[in-house]
Amino acid sequence: MKSPIPDYLHHVLETARPNEGGAAADYIETLANADTSKMAICLSMVDGNVYSAGDDKIEFSIQSISKAFVYAIAIEDAGLDQVLSKIGVEPSGDRFNQLSLERNTNRPMNPMINAGAITAHSLVVSPTATLDQRTERILNALSRLAGRQLHVDEEVYQAELKDADRNMAIGYMLKAAGIITCDPQEAVRGYIRQCAINVNVQDLAMMSAVLANAGVHPVSNEQIIPQTSVRQVLSVMTTCGMYDAAGDWVSSVGFPAKSGVAGAIIGALPGQVGIATFSPKIDERGNSVRGVAMCQQLSREMGLHMMDASHVARSTVQTSVSTLVEGEHKTHNGSCKREVVVFKLRGAVRFPGAERLTRALARELGQPDPLDEGSGSHADACGIVFSFRDVFSLNFIARRLIHENIARLLKEGKVLVIIDPSEVLEWDKAKAKDGRHPKVVDNEKEARDYIGGTGCQAVSQDPEW
Ligand code: GLN
Repeated sequence: MKSPIPDYLHHVLETARPNEGGAAADYIETLANADTSKMAICLSMVDGNVYSAGDDKIEFSIQSISKAFVYAIAIEDAGLDQVLSKIGVEPSGDRFNQLSLERNTNRPMNPMINAGAITAHSLVVSPTATLDQRTERILNALSRLAGRQLHVDEEVYQAELKDADRNMAIGYMLKAAGIITCDPQEAVRGYIRQCAINVNVQDLAMMSAVLANAGVHPVSNEQIIPQTSVRQVLSVMTTCGMYDAAGDWVSSVGFPAKSGVAGAIIGALPGQVGIATFSPKIDERGNSVRGVAMCQQLSREMGLHMMDASHVARSTVQTSVSTLVEGEHKTHNGSCKREVVVFKLRGAVRFPGAERLTRALARELGQPDPLDEGSGSHADACGIVFSFRDVFSLNFIARRLIHENIARLLKEGKVLVIIDPSEVLEWDKAKAKDGRHPKVVDNEKEARDYIGGTGCQAVSQDPEW
C-alpha cells in the first residue's frame, strides 16, 4: 500500500500555493532575490520517520529559527539562572527587531526577538569567547540536531552584515544597559552568522522533532537537549515564537512554533511530531504567509492543537484475575483463594494513568464498602501483579505514586510481583524504605512461578496471562 500521508502533504502544499500574499524579505539582498515559487513541507515523527512534499531539498538560511536552538545552547553553557537574569520570558508584542528592553530589569523581553537572541548568542561558550568559537559551537550543535553537517551561507552573511545598522544599534543598546559585556559588534556579527546557517525543511523538521521528543534525537536516540531546557524553549516558542502574532498563532494553530524571515516556520508538538514549512513570502510581522496557512490547515485537519486534550488517561489500567493451579511448590496460603490479580498499565504513563492504577488498587484490594459493589473484591488475593510490559515510560510523578503504592502494599504483607522487562519502574533497592521489595521479573511465566511455585498454571480470564 502507498502511504496516504505524502499525498496529504502535497494537498496541503497545493491548497496554500495560490496565496500570493506577502513579499520576500527586502532588507537582506540575497533573501530579496529568493525564488518565491519554491515551497516545501515536512513532518518528522518522534521515532524519526520523515514525510515531505515539494522542494524539500532546497536550502535557505535558518534566520530567526536559530534563536530557539541557540537559547537552548545558552542555557547549557551559562546555566538557566544566568540566562534568566539576562533575558526575560514575556511576549513583547513588538516587532522582532524592536529596540526595546523590559522596564525595571533592562532585560530584553524574550529570546525570540533580536535583542534577546543577540544576548543569548553572547552567552554561548562564555561571555569572553570569540566569534569563531561561538560559531563553531552553534554550527556543531545545529548539525547534530539536523543529523548532517550544516554550513554558513557566506553570501547571506555578507548581505545582512552590509545593512546591519539596526541590529548593531540593538547590540550597543544591550552593552549600554549592562546586559552584554562583550564587544557589541562581535556579538551582532556572531548572531548574523548564526542566522545565515543553511538548512532545508527536512533538517528543520528533524530539529523540531528533537524538541517534540523531549530532547532525544529521534534517529540516534541520544539526549541532545536536556528535558528541562526543552520545556523552557517550547514555552517561549509558544508565547513569543511568532512575535506580535503570538496570540493569534496559539489560538488558531496551537503548537509551539518559530518563524524566520527566509520564509521557514518550525512547529513542535510535544510527544507527537516536528513540523517544518517553507515559502519565502512573509507578512508584515515577518512570518511566511503560505507557511502560516499550511500550519493552520495541518493543525485543523490533523488535530494538532495542543489544547485538544486526548482521552488516553481513561483506558490505561486493565484489571484481570487468574486462578493458579498446582505447581511444584505450594507457596500460597490456605485462605488466599489462589487468586492472582493482575493490574496492567499501557503506554506513556503520567499522573492520570498512575491515579487510575492507585484508584483501582485502593478500591479492589481494600476493605469492601457496602455502598460500592465490587470494592474489596480481591482483598485476599494470594498475589498481586503489576504488568508494565506494555508501558513505554513513567514520568516522575507516575513513578513516585506507583512506588508509594508498592511500599504500602508490601507493608500490608502482600505478595507483589512486577513484570517490567524494560525497567521503567526504576525501583531503587538502596532507597526503598524499611527494606521491603517487590519481586521484579521479565515476563508472565516468571511471575506465575514466583507466586504459585515453579510450573504452576494459571486459569485466567486474561488469555495473555
Ligand atoms: N537575521 C534576521 C534579523 O536579525 C533574522 C530575523 C528573522 O528571521 N525574523 O533581522
